[in-house]
Amino acid sequence: MFEGICNNDSIFATWLKSLIDQGIISRTGLADPKLVDYKSEIYPYSINRIGEDTLAIAKILDRRFLLVVGPNRIKFKGENLNFGGIGISICALSHFNANKLRKYFRFTSPSVLSNNNVKVTIGLGDRLGLAGPGHIRAVRNSNVTPILAQQSLRELNLTKRTYHSTIDSATWSVFQENFRSPWAADGDHLKTENSVVEALKCGCTMITADLSDFIHPEFCNMEKHILFQEYEKCDSVYRAIAEEKYLNLKLIFNNNETIGFSKEELARVILTYKDAVDHATRLFKSGKSTKREFDFEISIDEIETPTSPQAHIYVAMEAKRNDISYTSIAPRFVGEFQKGIDYIGDIDDFRNSFKIHASIARAFGYRISVHSGSDKFSVFQSIGELTEGVFHIKTSGTSWLQAMKTISEVEPDFYRKLHKAALEAFPTASQYYKVTPDFENLTEIDYINNENLSSIFDNPDDRRVLHIAYGEILNNKELKIKFFEILEKNVEHYWISIENHIRRHLELLCI
Ligand code: ZN
Repeated sequence: MFEGICNNDSIFATWLKSLIDQGIISRTGLADPKLVDYKSEIYPYSINRIGEDTLAIAKILDRRFLLVVGPNRIKFKGENLNFGGIGISICALSHFNANKLRKYFRFTSPSVLSNNNVKVTIGLGDRLGLAGPGHIRAVRNSNVTPILAQQSLRELNLTKRTYHSTIDSATWSVFQENFRSPWAADGDHLKTENSVVEALKCGCTMITADLSDFIHPEFCNMEKHILFQEYEKCDSVYRAIAEEKYLNLKLIFNNNETIGFSKEELARVILTYKDAVDHATRLFKSGKSTKREFDFEISIDEIETPTSPQAHIYVAMEAKRNDISYTSIAPRFVGEFQKGIDYIGDIDDFRNSFKIHASIARAFGYRISVHSGSDKFSVFQSIGELTEGVFHIKTSGTSWLQAMKTISEVEPDFYRKLHKAALEAFPTASQYYKVTPDFENLTEIDYINNENLSSIFDNPDDRRVLHIAYGEILNNKELKIKFFEILEKNVEHYWISIENHIRRHLELLCI
């Protein structure tokens, strides 16, 4: 990839010579990080040693790569140079090199978080593979543990990426920032046994089991006498065990709130959720046959009907009965958690219902998980407070929106093209995501000047349209090439905007 790039009068050669002249590169490797500033195009935090070799991430010609200086330089694949007796290798941030790096530096591998007694974890999906350093800078001095690689199959298909590439991006970011705290990789919203196996084989340390195809919401509101007819069709042995267990159950939460099951409630949750728990069991077992340890999240959020406290308790208890060791459960909360915008619904209703879900999770000893959690500023305080600071929250497309915003600030004319493409993409993109923007309220981009262009990102209706358009935009080859060119060139600007945006989340979540 870098072969031949370093002939004597190339920009690379000039750059390397200047580093040697300044004493940043010498026979003993790279200088102390304190002496290296960003003007040298080397990320100072990334300077690390393997034996006599020094490694660092550098950026030149808007490309980041691994620089290895020292006598051995045999460990990574790249262009090997000899500069006045100093051995230097220029290596691509490739999968091969990421694998090597993970072997030498344990902290560049994701880890299983349940072993680390974590309290707050945040899923920071990075659809573009460029957001990592911004994410790390946002959480670095907090007690938040990041899931730096988190992609659903839907996202991987739309961006034509793989679990390998999402984990590699996180590995390089962690190395660049010398982030030595635990971090994780989530195979998000997986529905099949094959996808669980594949994600774990590629290095994911967490699985989010999406049970939505096995939940039967039609039973939630079914007329009572039809409901009982259906219930009678269920296996009689199972019914007897469940009735014995749940009809006598009285759980007290928050000092005074008692939750029990009437026979009708029990029939409803069994008919609605039993298949889902059985599927979770299959997914968990297939994971266990692949890897000894991983974090496992049970996700029942992607349906229309909010999860009742009884349903939550039933899923939690049945999953335990089936020997699933899970670390979090994501219920469907009241109101709407649409992508990339604030919570829609009554905030008091949310507080009241969230309080009980948070208490159930605390009582059973796992973290409550909030999906589509980016930009839910009006409920963050409730989430932080009612969980007593123990929860998982997922954000994903918000770093994509920050990328679009960055482009609107640095290349407004090109942004206009992206914006129009996003509008055209809506009919296709909205097949994958439930968002309901008010089309009457979208910004007329032709009537807004360049200086005010980024104000588009203050409009929740525009945000929803832009949020889901990533697949269509990135599948347009011409747009994609220019998009990445601009973003790589302005990547520091992008990282600052991500860092600030995620920090705003953390502040309101009381972290
Ligand atoms: Zn979800």
